[in-house]
Amino acid sequence: METEKIGFIGLGNMGHPMAKNLEKAGFPLSVYNRSAEKAEDFKEKSTVYTQIPDLVKNNDIIFTMLTDDHAAKAVYEDILKSDISGKLFIDMSTISPQATAELSGAVRIKEASFIDAPVAGSTGPATEGTLIIMTGGEEKDLQRAMPYFEKLGKAVKHLGENGKGIAGKLSINYFLSAIYQGLAETILFADQLGIERTAMLEIINESASGSGATKVKTPLLIHDDYKPAFALDLMLKDILLAKEAGADFPLSAVLSKTYQSAHDEGFGKDDVIGIINYLKNQPKK
Ligand code: NAP
Repeated sequence: METEKIGFIGLGNMGHPMAKNLEKAGFPLSVYNRSAEKAEDFKEKSTVYTQIPDLVKNNDIIFTMLTDDHAAKAVYEDILKSDISGKLFIDMSTISPQATAELSGAVRIKEASFIDAPVAGSTGPATEGTLIIMTGGEEKDLQRAMPYFEKLGKAVKHLGENGKGIAGKLSINYFLSAIYQGLAETILFADQLGIERTAMLEIINESASGSGATKVKTPLLIHDDYKPAFALDLMLKDILLAKEAGADFPLSAVLSKTYQSAHDEGFGKDDVIGIINYLKNQPKK
């Protein structure tokens, strides 16, 4: 099966390095991105399509890595215009359980297969091929996808039928949103007490409260530079999706309010840890 032709739709912050890893591995690759310039550096070794139905027609396995429900539905509307029988669609975006059910149903009714395969890990792991991939779908489809997943990630966690991959992803990102708000508040508190940021971050990272998540955001906090690897708006999307899916806890109310207000005040395009600048400007009670 490794000689199947693969297509990749959505070459954003995550999709671009992921597709590059598939290209580097030598798979016969085709790509599409809505804004053509992000596909430029695939022209040498891969096939670049400017129309989604053309990419779909000429490939067997099609990956999608798109912003949200709206983007995924728009792309799948185009995908479903073609004869897709026998093809495998692997959606790696973080979208809602409802949209996943809708898309997987629409694909399966046309005698094709679907795996929801969202990922944990940001642009670093996407570039290094060390993402954690959470999957929902049929075992036989997973086996078909494995040669590609092995180039994209360091672990594949198969969680059950379609929709279970997304369920796992919404759960881990709920935790991550709490980590980032907690980290930002901790740094502001330490700033207030006169503790140097570098020292505080070293303490966090060397202690039990340190994690991959705190380490990856350390340079951004030290340099006060929030160029996005994972935009705050994407985290807001994920908290709202988690709430819709039933995350009704004390923290979910606080997290959604904070990230929503940060978005409203213009911090949505910054990296998620840029939440610190929103929090810094809040009047003290
Ligand atoms: P991104 O940089 O904003 O890329 C989004 C991609 O979706 C771009 O290729 C964009 O095309 C495309 N797109 C958006 N609307 C579209 C539409 N209507 N039609 C066609 N294409 C459309 O986002 P990202 O950071 O790569 O994230 C992608 C997904 O992975 C999201 O669901 C996110 O939550 C999830 N995720 C992100 C991270 C992270 O650290 N960034 C980590 C794990 C999971 P254009 O280039 O034309 O805009």
